[in-house]
This record gives sequence, structure tokens and C-alpha cells, in this order.
Amino acid sequence: MNIHEYQAKELLRGYGVAVPNGRVAFTPDEAEAAARELGGTVWVVKSQIHAGGRGAGRFTNDRNGPGGVRVVKSVDAVGKNAAQMLSSVLVTKQTGPSGREVKRVYIEEGCAIERELYLGMLIDRATSRITVMASTEGGMEIEEVAARTPDKILKVAIDPATGLQPFHARQIAFGLGLVGNQIKAATQFIVNAYRAFVELDASIVEINPLVVTASGDVVALDAKINFDDNALFRHPPIEALRDEAEEDPAELEAAKHGLNYVTLDGNIGCMVNGAGLAMATMDIIKLYGGEPANFLDVGGGATKERVATAFRLILRDPKVEAILVNIFGGIMRCDVIAEGVVSAAREVDLRVPLVVRLEGTNVELGKQILRDSGLPILSADHLADAADKVVSAVRANGKANLTTSADQHSGAH
Ligand code: GDP
Ligand code: MN
Repeated sequence: MNIHEYQAKELLRGYGVAVPNGRVAFTPDEAEAAARELGGTVWVVKSQIHAGGRGAGRFTNDRNGPGGVRVVKSVDAVGKNAAQMLSSVLVTKQTGPSGREVKRVYIEEGCAIERELYLGMLIDRATSRITVMASTEGGMEIEEVAARTPDKILKVAIDPATGLQPFHARQIAFGLGLVGNQIKAATQFIVNAYRAFVELDASIVEINPLVVTASGDVVALDAKINFDDNALFRHPPIEALRDEAEEDPAELEAAKHGLNYVTLDGNIGCMVNGAGLAMATMDIIKLYGGEPANFLDVGGGATKERVATAFRLILRDPKVEAILVNIFGGIMRCDVIAEGVVSAAREVDLRVPLVVRLEGTNVELGKQILRDSGLPILSADHLADAADKVVSAVRANGKANLTTSADQHSGAH
């Protein structure tokens, strides 16, 4: 689960991590009041969406000026910029072309930046350890730094038995070229951020930029925290920070029905029981030249209702041109699954080719039910056959379109 920047900063502040003072605002009036409360002469108005790249982002509405992060010098300008951002759509490298509507802004006291650095903490699956990453190339995406100048990324893997020790933090501080009091400030920052990571069951804590100010303080100017969904039950206050407006509506509905669903870019909808089988199914679709539209694990006890919900979710995606159902009937019997598929296909008024591969207990009875249903279901005998059939179905669809336009073309002559 993701949260907004201002929420991440609030959590980090609670762990003693240095962050600038700020207030969230939902209206331009609230933004102006926030600026007055904060005092000072320089403020930063920051669009709050669950995506990075806001500073370099653009609002779909041209009138709205440059960027989703703006430094301003009067309370009046805070209100005006907040008014422009609120309910406008911000497009960044991370939002995709459709962008995200800004529904809240964060008003922060301005900060005199001396250096912009990068600090990240994440779980490195290769070492199964929390790894602290730091770089002098703050402000830009770490993926870009990794691709262009990998030697500029410092990595320290933390042994879970000892946890992060001050010497780890100092090692990073020296690596970042910090001097004098900055070293102590950075050490405290890193130790506290690590404690937040562990105690909050985070999967990513990213501070980009981490800045050194003109007065030598080390402060988080941006903050992103991702949480391990499987540990959220231990943190009701964090669960309460969930902003459903920022989440994929299909994934949200799937979660409510206990379905494990992730949208992807392809055109072949997949419905599979078991995460491993779902991944194998996506792999084989790609092997046959197709592209999956989603990952979907309906779980072990796929009831008729669950199957129907899964179908609706897949079909709501306009990219889907064919569906592959790949179910292994172990504890579940294939005949029960076939009945679920047939009734779901009827309920949802299926309009794209449906390929079903069943294997396991009562498989013949299951196939018989599919045949007798009268629905145009393509039955497959094994995984490769299923992939072949569903990819061919999508191709045939593509060819039909091509033929139509070619016919129109020749007809015009
Ligand atoms: P992101 O683009 O979504 O990662 O948003 P950030 O919060 O990282 O802001 C983008 C950039 O705006 C930062 O890299 C800074 O250069 C700049 N910025 C953010 N806050 C301040 C501030 O308080 N003062 C100044 N001068 N610049 C800031
Ligand atoms: Mn940033």
C-alpha cells in the first residue's frame, strides 16, 4: 500500500526524522491558512498524488503553469497555485498519460537547498536483507542513476540480527561526502528512518531528495513509503491512511473479493487458480507471442461467485480481446469449476473468445459441462494448447479487422 508524501513525512517525524514543517490542504482557503500558520516568506505548494516525478510533471490544462511542485513567495500565491493544482490532472513519468487528479496539496515551509542527495531503504530479495541505498545524485529517479552511473549508488545491506548500527549510517554519510555536523545529523536521520522502516513494516522508504540545507541540517524534502500489504493488519492507523481515489478501481474491487488481481498492458485476460500457475500462464502466453492483460489468482476455493466476479473484472478492461481460464482442479472438482465458468459467462454476457483449460479431478465431466453449455467456449487439453488457442483467437480477431479495412480499401477503387 502507498500513502501520500505528507502522510509519510508525518510518520517519519514521529520517529525523529527531520522533515520541514507543513500542512495538508483540500481547498485554496485552507492552503492560505496553512501558509499563514507556518509563517515565513517562502512556501512550497506540492501536489499530493501517489506518483513521483511531480516536480517535472505537467497539468493537462496548459493554463495551469509549470509543474506539480512550486516554490512561491506570498500567501496570495500559495492560494492561487493551490487553486490551479486542486482538481487539475497532473501527468508525470510515473502516472502514465492519463495522469492523476490532484485532490490535496501540501503546503510546506521553504528550504534553502545546498545539496540534493538520495536515500532509499528497501528489501533486497537477492540477499533477503533491508538494503540502504544512497547517492549524491538526488532529485532524479534512482532508476536513471542506476542505468547511467551505477557507481554513484552506495549500497549497504543490513544484517537482521544486528539491525542498522550507527557505523552503517556513518559509512553512508562519508560516502555522500558529508562533513562536520552534517555527519551526525545524517547518522541520526538514517538510524531513525531505519527504525521507522522496520517498525512500520515498510517495503520501501525513499527520500528523494534528501537535502543538506544552507545551515547544515539534513532534511527529507520528499518522502515515499510503501507498506507490506501482508503486515497491514498489524497497523490499523496506517491502513486508515489508504486513499482509495489513488488506487486502481479494478484492483480495489478485486481485493474486496479476496482476489489477487494486477492489471497489465496486454490484451489476453487470464483467470487462474494459484499464483504460481498464474505466473506460468502469463509466461506461456508470452512464449506464444501474446501479451497478458492481467495477473489474476482466484485462489484455492474458487466458488461460482468468485469466478463471476473475476470475469466481470477482466471484462471491464477494454483492452481485453480474449480470455484464458486455466484451472487446476485439486481440492476443487473440475465439474464444479466448469459450472461456475458457464454460469459466469452467461451472467456477464461474454463477447470475447473464451479458452478454458481444465485439469485434475473430474476433468472429463468438467469438459462435458463446457461442451453442453452451448456457449462458444474453446476447450484446451493442456497449457501449451490453451496458450496457442487464445493467442490464435486474438490474432484472428486482428486479421478480421485487417481484412475489413483492406476490403474497404479495394472497394474504393
Ligand atoms: P517529485 O518530483 O514528485 O519527486 O517531488 P519532490 O518533492 O521531490 O520535489 C521536486 C523538486 O522540487 C525537488 O527535487 C526539489 O528540487 C524541489 N523542491 C521541493 N521542495 C522544495 C523546497 O522547499 N525548496 C526548494 N527550493 N525546492 C524544493
Ligand atoms: Mn522526489
